[in-house]
Amino acid sequence: MTVLKIYEFPAPILKQISKTVTSFDTSLESFVQDGIETLQSHNYCVGLAAPQTGVLKRIVFIDVSRARKPHPNNGLLALINPIILEASNHKIVREGCLSIPDFTANVKRAMNITVTYQNIQGDTKILTTKDFEAHAIQHEMDHLDGVLFLDKITNPASDLFRRVKF
Ligand SMILES: [Zn+2]
Repeated sequence: MTVLKIYEFPAPILKQISKTVTSFDTSLESFVQDGIETLQSHNYCVGLAAPQTGVLKRIVFIDVSRARKPHPNNGLLALINPIILEASNHKIVREGCLSIPDFTANVKRAMNITVTYQNIQGDTKILTTKDFEAHAIQHEMDHLDGVLFLDKITNPASDLFRRVKF
């Protein structure tokens, strides 16, 4: 397993559209293992998308159990080809990004989502989740379409915050 390099804004790869995964083979398994190890190598990191590691594939890694504060969660998830089926109850939430390490931002997210995805075997699954885990999934899925939170804020003066380092 390998800890992968994280591309940071304004790396052009972060603005590209990722491709659907069609081969559920050993190279996918190996990439998923590397992605999980990479997520786990960053303190309190709850999510990572494949394009942040320079790989333009529709894969996101989520583990909200690693958050600084406790939130209800489904533990470690590797979502392949995720698609949001339902999203409701939108609110403004604060979020950060490994690729934008110096800032956090206020972004509008659905508090409740249902998402379909494939697992490492290629089986189709459905996940319904809420609150922080739902935000994390939406944030990581935005990366698959080349969207960063910087693209979603309407007013940098009120919605962008310099991160306090601990
Ligand atoms: Zn991010």
